[in-house]
Amino acid sequence: MTKDITPRHCLACGGMLTRPLPSPGGPPFYCAACGLPVYHDPKVAVAGVVTDQAGRVWLLRRAQRDQAHGRWILPGGHVDRGEELTQAVRREVAEETGLQAELRGLVGVYSYPGNPVVLIVYRLTSQPGQPRPSREALELRPFAPADIPWDRLGYVSTGQALRDALDLNPSPAPEPRLAPRPALG
Ligand SMILES: [Zn+2]
Repeated sequence: MTKDITPRHCLACGGMLTRPLPSPGGPPFYCAACGLPVYHDPKVAVAGVVTDQAGRVWLLRRAQRDQAHGRWILPGGHVDRGEELTQAVRREVAEETGLQAELRGLVGVYSYPGNPVVLIVYRLTSQPGQPRPSREALELRPFAPADIPWDRLGYVSTGQALRDALDLNPSPAPEPRLAPRPALG
């Protein structure tokens, strides 16, 4: 979704950034000119598992030329600074599908080592209307749960969120039973 680009210049004065000695929770960079500490924050994104009246899930085929190009993803995108998450997901769904959708709850929060994106996925239901894909989509269509193209999904998070939303993840393994005690003697 987002490349983890290392910043080089200060946002305030344009000076070169230097790396301080690493300290837990401390800023990864300081501006050599004005001393501004620069934190390399995660990116917050939202996505929606949007079902229609028939229980089918809207997926779109990504037009952007990155590693998920041509693969099926959930409608979603980055949260604007100061924007409420639930507003952001409804906005992204409307922009990418042309459909108004009602929020039904949280599916889950997804993050991966080395990936700057923290993804928050909501469950929504689309209201009847004319779907209209944005230019970010090659195709937009609803899939019945049995027809979801699991081998052609864009991101690991797409599959995880869909399985969580559709309750397809294996339940956690039961607590291991204590081994029977060996008979003494
Ligand atoms: Zn500076």
